[in-house]
Amino acid sequence: MPDLRATLLGAAGEVTGSSTLIDTGHRRVLVDLGLVQGEPSGHDRNTTLPNIDTRWLDAVALTHVHVDHSGRLPMLMQTPWRGPVFCTHPTADLAALALKASARLQRVRHHEWLKHRDRGQFTKGDQPPPILYTKAEVNDLLDRLVPLQIDEAVDLGEGVSLRLKQAGHILGAASVQIDCPDGRVVCSGDLGRDDAPPIPGPTRCPSADLVIMESTYGDRERRSVDNVESEIARIVAAAAHRGGPIIVPTFAIGRAQQLLHVLRTLQSRGLLEMNVYLDSPLAARATDIHSHWPDDLHPSSQHGLDDPLDFPGLYKLMSRKDASRLDDLAAPAVILAGNGFGEGGPILRHLARWLPDAKATVLLSGHCLAGTLVGHLSGDPPTVKIDGRTIAVEANVEVVDAFGGHADATGLETWLLANDTPGQVILNHGEPDARDALASRLTQRGCTIRTPSVGETCVA
Ligand SMILES: [Zn+2]
Repeated sequence: MPDLRATLLGAAGEVTGSSTLIDTGHRRVLVDLGLVQGEPSGHDRNTTLPNIDTRWLDAVALTHVHVDHSGRLPMLMQTPWRGPVFCTHPTADLAALALKASARLQRVRHHEWLKHRDRGQFTKGDQPPPILYTKAEVNDLLDRLVPLQIDEAVDLGEGVSLRLKQAGHILGAASVQIDCPDGRVVCSGDLGRDDAPPIPGPTRCPSADLVIMESTYGDRERRSVDNVESEIARIVAAAAHRGGPIIVPTFAIGRAQQLLHVLRTLQSRGLLEMNVYLDSPLAARATDIHSHWPDDLHPSSQHGLDDPLDFPGLYKLMSRKDASRLDDLAAPAVILAGNGFGEGGPILRHLARWLPDAKATVLLSGHCLAGTLVGHLSGDPPTVKIDGRTIAVEANVEVVDAFGGHADATGLETWLLANDTPGQVILNHGEPDARDALASRLTQRGCTIRTPSVGETCVA
């Protein structure tokens, strides 16, 4: 009888703080150790590591670099543990970028909070956002990364092996498959869509005794990419007519490259006759890393010797001085700027400059999270607050909630049930409504579903 155990250490009934401990009885593998996001209660949960005895931890696997999966890994360097961290080659490249940026952002937010408090200005919460780790700890963690090819098996001893399967979602994202004498465990990580270039679709779940699976869009269906391209083409044509720029809040890893792919496609069809400015050094560097791994991209993004995400008229801005020149734009253009929820970063400058201008368009290209500036803007308010200033909203606001790298409910079901029905399925990484909807859908298909709380161990 198999004795396979999995414990959700985070992302149980929520979408951040992903971390799962898999215990085969022979070997223990930690899959992901992500940041809990959401202010300010997430701070307290991030400062302490999950209650696991790292002496008994054989390996760590990193599914992908989004900080809600990777953002606390450097804290492992504050314990005596010094084992391998398995990930794909593109993930190793992106991790260096993302984790150094995460450490830098923690320092900036911490010191800004203190500065605002000392000046008697408004601060969120009673405590400054914590600095969770140092640059040196990030570098130590990066030294632990062991990049694997997709499907390359690594022997963990005692008859246990680990391999990574393509998960789609973002460049380098992988599911984790662990084979042991008692059976097989698969941990999905975040699963992508089949039709979201430049990222390819996920490899279907193999037959398994225990599957830990994400449920982010367990209660939703997404529009196809063809519809998205025609919708963006319509918005571009309307903006050209209005004579102002299109401002797009964007995430650096994943969303920025999806948008660039669509804009490149439109340009190749003669449907985009304006410059595109990418105002996010992190997104620019992440885009360059995509170009280093053309074989890991969607077939429609592989253009032989061409850089798959570059095109004439695309300008990557690497400094504030460059970005400030866009304040005086006289011709229509597309400005992609971080951050995707409008919670900070270069996008705030462009929104403050262009929201009061009726010639401008703001394109909200993904899920507009409630409580964020982008969430507020999606409700078409007369004014918004940016850095304490009240800004009139005269610009045309368009919402196209079709981008994003997650499989929808049909995609999740297709991934899971392409082969034999698994012995047991644990759902993680989903808000309660999404997780419950997917649970009932899969139960109707004959699956045995568990929806545990944080810290609860499931045995298969
Ligand atoms: Zn993700």
